[in-house]
Amino acid sequence: MSKETFSFQAEVSKLLDIVAHSLYSQKEIFLRELISNASDACDKLRYEALTNPALTEGSAPYQITLRADKKAKTLTVTDNGIGMNRQDLVETLGTIARSGTQAFMEAMAAARGDAKKKRGDVDLIGQFGVGFYSAFMVAERIEVTTRRAGDDKAWLWISDGRGEFTVEEAARDGHGTDVVVFLKKDDKEYLEPMRIRTIVKTYSDHIGLPVVLAGDGKDLADETLNTASAIWTRQKKDISDDDYMEFYHHVSHMFDDPWLKLHNRVEGVQSYTSLLYVPSSRPFDLFHPERKSQLKLYVKRVYITDNCDELLPGYFRFVRGIVDSEDLPLNISREMLQHNPQLQRIRKALTKRLFTDLAKKAEGAAEEYATFWENFGAVLKEGLYEDLEHREQLFELARFRSTGADGLSSLKDYIGRMKEGQDAIYYITGEDAHQVAQSPQLEGFKAKGIEVLLLTDPVDEFWVPSVGEYEGKAFKSATRGNVDLSAVKDTDAKEKDDSEKKTDTPDIAPLIARFKLALGDAVKDVRASERLTDSPVCLVADEGDLDIHLERILKQHKQLSQATPRVMEINPKHALIGKLAERALTAGGQDSILDDAAMLLLDQARIVEGESLADPLAFSRRMAKVMEKGLAAG
Ligand code: ADP
Ligand code: MG
Repeated sequence: MSKETFSFQAEVSKLLDIVAHSLYSQKEIFLRELISNASDACDKLRYEALTNPALTEGSAPYQITLRADKKAKTLTVTDNGIGMNRQDLVETLGTIARSGTQAFMEAMAAARGDAKKKRGDVDLIGQFGVGFYSAFMVAERIEVTTRRAGDDKAWLWISDGRGEFTVEEAARDGHGTDVVVFLKKDDKEYLEPMRIRTIVKTYSDHIGLPVVLAGDGKDLADETLNTASAIWTRQKKDISDDDYMEFYHHVSHMFDDPWLKLHNRVEGVQSYTSLLYVPSSRPFDLFHPERKSQLKLYVKRVYITDNCDELLPGYFRFVRGIVDSEDLPLNISREMLQHNPQLQRIRKALTKRLFTDLAKKAEGAAEEYATFWENFGAVLKEGLYEDLEHREQLFELARFRSTGADGLSSLKDYIGRMKEGQDAIYYITGEDAHQVAQSPQLEGFKAKGIEVLLLTDPVDEFWVPSVGEYEGKAFKSATRGNVDLSAVKDTDAKEKDDSEKKTDTPDIAPLIARFKLALGDAVKDVRASERLTDSPVCLVADEGDLDIHLERILKQHKQLSQATPRVMEINPKHALIGKLAERALTAGGQDSILDDAAMLLLDQARIVEGESLADPLAFSRRMAKVMEKGLAAG
């Protein structure tokens, strides 16, 4: 096949443009990325060779070789890993294959939109890493010669990173890949052995196979630059914090600092090593519907898969790292991993370990822990309805915003602050804590000093009903059913309430009857409210009906087409309701202002809920009419 020219996928072109023009100061990370790819390629071949040993017959031991050619001004990264065939080349070095790079592009777009953050792209390269393409920070051209293990044809990929690349047939001894970086004039420092040595030590020491700087055949001998043993097999005392961090970057494709690190070796009936990390920032794909685990499974140092859901429960999917088992058979297929009893035992132990360590942090480092909870709490809460076995432990970790305290509280805190006579844990759900805290439905709670949890994660709509109660106290929605707060001892607002009781409240039964008639099917019922103190009206869900916020979520996801009619509660203590009640006592059937008021109050309650009006035009007409009447009367 002769030489063919391809265009980069549009996103890649955009990415390359950013990379080539970025002022990112740590350009050296390109070498980390190329070595990381070379190491992945060896891992992949090692795994394939388990079932197809012919692939590596006669091959040299796995190794990554760096070769600096001062005359040609090239730095070459060579591996004897799996290599790529023609299709692999076109697909992986022309598109954005990796999700991390995708995330980078999205974050870029967001940063670009934000005019204040001109330097956004520079920081983002470091934050996300852009894989292979990062080499174009220092390269005016890259040539990749590669041959897939088992194939006899090799291929040459060439690009200057400006929109196009070519692929043609080539020759190469054995399987593997050479990435030849033709350095830009200003980037010749990457030919210096000293510089290369430092970079490899800094970023790639944890790589489990030798990274060798090739000698020049005269004065310089071949030199292995890294420790060349898998980091998790080393003694903890021999591993520096930086080593741990760089391995985290490599294994997770995330470039923040890990918040928590758990490195454990277990020996006995079952032997394995685990090195787990909890990131300090939220990975972009946390809420991906597949909810895939991100741990990598090794057996006796051989990489098996990064797609093993058996290692941790789904609600720990933000945990990154590796598990290396000594007992699983090396020839285990990815399919055999399902329901494997050995993996089940490892999962149990890892889960326990994570709970212990997280609980320690929650106790001893509340502030850090709060950040962790902001990042991953919504995921952990999935466990409350999925995993009965660990519900208690999850509740201990769970933190909530509430009307009763700044910051985050645990349920134990909440219960400790409950009022005398209060027998339920009250909550309200919504999108934004600040906003829901202002809901009219909470007025009565505030007046009595009763605390309400502000639940703003979509998952809250699911665990609360399935859990039902905590330590014998039922969870009760502040926006559903009747709330009876009369049993609660009213310590804070006692006097105020007593004085209010003395003022006459008119009989509102006729008004309620009149409103019901006027609103018809638009509401399920009209009732006098226990909840309201300041607002004239609010909407609540009837006992047993869907809570208002949940219904909105379901509608957004097209799981629900019809809205349930709500109960409109009216506040007898409100002056407007008082006036209307008087009018309803005396007015005849012709008094249309009461009908208009009913409609307007309902629409007003909907607006407060953040809902859109069914008929905005009718609303504004009624509004104008009532205002006009009001002016005439005044
Ligand atoms: P990532 O490593 O996260 O997948 P990269 O941009 O670094 O993203 O690499 C893209 C893809 O190119 C890799 O997933 C791999 O399929 C392929 N690739 C890159 N370098 C090599 C290599 N040395 N050997 C084999 N495949 C490679
Ligand atoms: Mg990579």
